[in-house]
Amino acid sequence: MLVSVPLTQKSIADYELFVDPESIRDVRELAGDLAGSSILHVNATAFGGGVSELLYTLVPLMQDVGLIADWKVIQGSEEFFSVTKIMHNCLQGMDMPITDQMKKIYEHHNLANAKMMAGQYDYVVVHDPQPAALPYFLENHRAIGKKWIWRCHLDLTKFSQELWAYLLPFIQVFDAVVFTSPSYLDEHAAKLPPCTFITPTIDPLSPKNTALDEQTIHRTLRKYHIDPDRPLITQVSRYDPWKDPLGVIDAYRLVKKEVPEAQLLLAASMASDDPESWHYYEKTARHAGEDDDIFLLSNLQGVGNMEINAFQRGSSVVVQKSLQEGFGLTVTEGMWKEKPVIGGNVGGIVLQIDDNVNGFLVDSVESCAARIVELLKNPGIGARLGVAAREKVRNKFLCTSNLEAYLNLMRGLSVTEQREEENTG
Ligand code: UDP
Repeated sequence: MLVSVPLTQKSIADYELFVDPESIRDVRELAGDLAGSSILHVNATAFGGGVSELLYTLVPLMQDVGLIADWKVIQGSEEFFSVTKIMHNCLQGMDMPITDQMKKIYEHHNLANAKMMAGQYDYVVVHDPQPAALPYFLENHRAIGKKWIWRCHLDLTKFSQELWAYLLPFIQVFDAVVFTSPSYLDEHAAKLPPCTFITPTIDPLSPKNTALDEQTIHRTLRKYHIDPDRPLITQVSRYDPWKDPLGVIDAYRLVKKEVPEAQLLLAASMASDDPESWHYYEKTARHAGEDDDIFLLSNLQGVGNMEINAFQRGSSVVVQKSLQEGFGLTVTEGMWKEKPVIGGNVGGIVLQIDDNVNGFLVDSVESCAARIVELLKNPGIGARLGVAAREKVRNKFLCTSNLEAYLNLMRGLSVTEQREEENTG
């Protein structure tokens, strides 16, 4: 049997601190129509990366508004996760062949996990490509879930046609698909089940985002030998080519010529579904060399949610210099903390940062370095961008919006279901 992820309780009422009470009432009303419905989320890891970050809040909030909500994680070998990481890379634009052996491994593990599924749900939401073939391999997928939703969190603007063609029959089994941005689909949408677009969101009450006092921030920085009195540039991201940690180091080196006291922090969690991260960590460490002002930290040194929160808050500039990015919750997190965020001009980052209004978008190492220098030399610019950034997140990217979007999707699907019954009856 697939194992449920243990969760803490959350209450939607607590979010009245951040969003207006009317919108909370709307969410409750919407949920009222779905009261007692059951929903299962399935993904590849309970730790590391944006999907688990989202589910730790979304699932308890679903429970709080009256749904029977659960989250389970599939099981897989390192071999399987190496294959799915290659698939992830190909969907984000890398050109690599998907061999018959890889397909065999992918299908074998999806079949094995399908056999471990039990229970009866009204809705099953499958996140990302790793478990995307589950309903295809279930003997009777309708017995497990009445409606199946595939939620793809990746930036698909440059996806490999070959891999997409391979995955399509698996995805066509779903009743609905969810992407972050309509720009990821263009002509391919025609072959897919009905598409909905939902942006990820952050939880302002989670240990990662809740307010921290100055003392805690300084103490945390010092614990990791970072000087709180010198400028700090931070990128929080898995070690992954798409996050471009090497490019961030190159940008920092250019910054150093003009602001010699600058420090760089790359903080990364090692996700269990990302075996490539070790290899990329070593590559990044080699690139960083012997520079004592570059800090490479991870969960293995005790960096958890509170520490990430303190690092982001203690930074002069938050960077997310991705080359492809499904959404980039680290951008949202920095913006919420009123930091000037410099993001790669790609994917979901452009849904968040309006250039020069609430952050900066950059296309190269040089432009990233120039913006960092500008911000370090003119703190007033960062303060202006930061205030606008928090407001954008408050309006669009807090977890109550994510819950509302899912409830709307579910309601739409159950309406369809009722209509189908009426038509056949
Ligand atoms: N994260 C973390 N510790 C780290 C690195 C990342 O907690 O050392 C979190 C980060 O704060 C964010 C999520 O992992 O909440 C990454 O989500 P994002 O959408 O930025 O990228 P993904 O990893 O999903 O591609």
